[in-house]
Amino acid sequence: MYKIQSTEKMKRIMGEYFLSLESGEKKVAWCTSVGPAELLRSFGFEVYFPENHGALLGATRTAMDYIPEAIKCGYSGHVCSYTTSDIGSYLKGDTPLKTHYGLQGHPKPDIIAYNTNQCREVEDWFTFFANEFKCPIVGIHPPRHLDEITQDEIDLVVKQFKKIIPVCEEVSGNKFNEDKFKEVVKRSKDATLLWQKVLRTSSADTPPISFFDGTIHMGPIVVLRGTETAIDYYSTLLNELEENIANGQGFIKNPRTRIFWEGMPIWGKIRMMSDLFTSNGAAVVASTYCSSWIFDKFDENDPWESTARAYTEIFINRSEKAKMKMLSDWFKEYNIDGIVYHDTKTCFNNSNAKFGMPQRLKESSGIPALVIEGDLCDLRFFSEGQSITKIETFLEQIEESKVYN
Ligand code: SF4
Repeated sequence: MYKIQSTEKMKRIMGEYFLSLESGEKKVAWCTSVGPAELLRSFGFEVYFPENHGALLGATRTAMDYIPEAIKCGYSGHVCSYTTSDIGSYLKGDTPLKTHYGLQGHPKPDIIAYNTNQCREVEDWFTFFANEFKCPIVGIHPPRHLDEITQDEIDLVVKQFKKIIPVCEEVSGNKFNEDKFKEVVKRSKDATLLWQKVLRTSSADTPPISFFDGTIHMGPIVVLRGTETAIDYYSTLLNELEENIANGQGFIKNPRTRIFWEGMPIWGKIRMMSDLFTSNGAAVVASTYCSSWIFDKFDENDPWESTARAYTEIFINRSEKAKMKMLSDWFKEYNIDGIVYHDTKTCFNNSNAKFGMPQRLKESSGIPALVIEGDLCDLRFFSEGQSITKIETFLEQIEESKVYN
């Protein structure tokens, strides 16, 4: 039975991270998952990511217990189920953070920061909590859906980053220190480049890590980037995976098909999906989702422009043309045979199957595509039986076309 041994280490550091949010040693900043975490850490904040909590609610399948609470409060059941489950969990005064990590409840924010590079929903979601906790809220609103990111966009985003400084200084009680900011950016860069190498190991013939494993091992790059802990963790994981490649070990030996996953994970069905693909001889080796935390433009010698660029040029914030180019490059890098689009009911922003991209990308790349419907947290939008049938048929068709071509 193939097992990634580093998982135990990851569980330990994630547990320590969550407990640190309640230790009272540092003030706490809430931040969006692709938000200005480096800047916040440079002021000495511990950083908490509500989206990570949303993923936990999805993975523990508790989200559906909480979503109705947010609906009662006026939120539509068709908006981001991270938002509705997180708000509902808070309103109900319950969270798996208590049972899984021994916290007393939701960590309390001293300041809240968001970046709409991923969606407008985060602004609504985080504003709800700023009102609840009566704490300052700051936001970055970069231009969206661009083919190319030019100097004009970078200048604008840098200005917005710098506007946050006085609020952070007041809440933290610390003056902005550019050297500290550079140090954090350097640590984030080191961790994100290791994460990139971790993901790239799955281009091996016998891949040592799948997309589904990646959704678990990405925890530290989301919540601990900018720390030595993240660098140390991804060094350990990378060593293990490289050793496994050298020994011909992986989660599947010589898969018959290599699949790309586009869109959000279905958090409550990670294990089921993983087993479904491997039992059909398929390896899901790459994804837009796990790649979202590769910020290879970070540069400690140019911390403002490089962070502004890295956070503005992410996949979710780009035009359809730019996204298709990125996907085509990944297809080649990972030797992809087919792509599965998860058309996520409550996340319009991270679903790319609604405007004909599957058809257009199939025409330009020749890579077959399948669209399945589901959701990140709300399993009422996911039909397991229908999805299994669609995926098995799709994999069979790819295998047949490989035989006849
Ligand atoms: S990108 Fe989608 S899942 Fe993430 S916060 Fe925005 S709407 Fe929710």
